[in-house]
Amino acid sequence: MTKITAPDQISRITSAVDHLATITEPDRPHTRLVFSPEFDRGREWLRKTFLAAGLACHIDTGGNLIGVRKGKQNVDNAGKVIIGSHIDTVPAGGRFDGIAGVVAALEVVHYLNEKRIELPFDLEIVDYLGEELNVWGTSCLGSRHMAGLITSEMLERIDSEGRRLGAEISRIGGSGQASDGPRSDASQIKACLELHIEQAKILDSNGQDIGIVTAIPGIYRYGISITGQAGHSGTTSMAERQDALVAAADIIQKTSALASEIARDENQHFVATIGKIDVFPNGAAIVPGQVEMTLDLRAVNARARVSFFEAFERACDQAAKTRNCRVTVQQLAAADVAPMNGNLMTMLEESAKANGLSAINISSGAGHDTAHLSRIAPAAMIFIPCRDGLSHCPEEYTSSEAIAKGATVLTGCVMGLANEAVKVS
Ligand SMILES: [Zn+2]
Repeated sequence: MTKITAPDQISRITSAVDHLATITEPDRPHTRLVFSPEFDRGREWLRKTFLAAGLACHIDTGGNLIGVRKGKQNVDNAGKVIIGSHIDTVPAGGRFDGIAGVVAALEVVHYLNEKRIELPFDLEIVDYLGEELNVWGTSCLGSRHMAGLITSEMLERIDSEGRRLGAEISRIGGSGQASDGPRSDASQIKACLELHIEQAKILDSNGQDIGIVTAIPGIYRYGISITGQAGHSGTTSMAERQDALVAAADIIQKTSALASEIARDENQHFVATIGKIDVFPNGAAIVPGQVEMTLDLRAVNARARVSFFEAFERACDQAAKTRNCRVTVQQLAAADVAPMNGNLMTMLEESAKANGLSAINISSGAGHDTAHLSRIAPAAMIFIPCRDGLSHCPEEYTSSEAIAKGATVLTGCVMGLANEAVKVS
């Protein structure tokens, strides 16, 4: 990486991304679900790639694949720096979500190797286990484990094929046990860094190279149960109906209106989605008697979330009253907003500037492994542009040049952490 877009670097990035893209369910590109045979093959390829880059490989108790580049011996309080992302995908996902981050982290190692730079600290390149939401209902398995957030209850969950989550983690080399607290060396971690595609279009539309992430939003999920009365669609008069689906429609419309209003007024990332709904009995000639649906709420500002939720509860009460149904709301999951470390954000910004790259601050829409790591150590993220903001779909695209630019920013930041010049290109 003597130049930002050195051809050998670009071809190395392209070939890594292309190779991983071939490891997929054949009929459903790009699908490499955690614990699937494709995931195992992807991991095996990555392990060999780590070894070829001179990294010492192991799988930690949480099932993360870690490649270590040792720092100088006998440096007091040298600490550690972690750079990682993930190679698992959603079903029919993309070629870059997570993968770009792992490939960029490897580029940092290639630069250090080519320049024969010995860092004062150990550098860990990590493929975090199972970042995407899985069939056991938990995302970010590896980073949660590092942060001490994997519980026995999560590990005991069994999927529709009878697979127990804990058994799957131990099959791929983890302990399969609940975390007994954060990583024991957490206090030695100087920085956790991650590069990721933006998964939205701010960078792409504004022609910016790098997004310095300010915060990863809090993610909250609620189960909404609406109970009315099922009845014959021909004989139940409109006046006497207790139609749970009509009440649900009221709530869905109100949710969208309230969230749009808050996002506009606050001028910040705020989204609310009702994306899952089950109707019972679900018959063409039956008035719907019961609806179960899920609200997914993501906010970088706690005040905005609280005011949305108060208005949302009022909307549920109103729908219950108008439609003569009973509505209950139950919290299913809650993860607070994760602000990124200010010092690391400044270092990443300085690295972008020193290397001639444009950068803007940006808040994340999606959740990431770095949110969990930020609970135990200084953590920060950068985004690179993602064409038309499309992600979690086969059209997802970023260029090898964009990955190279991001890798340069990470490299500069790592050099800065080693008290060296951040201009690396
Ligand atoms: Zn991702």
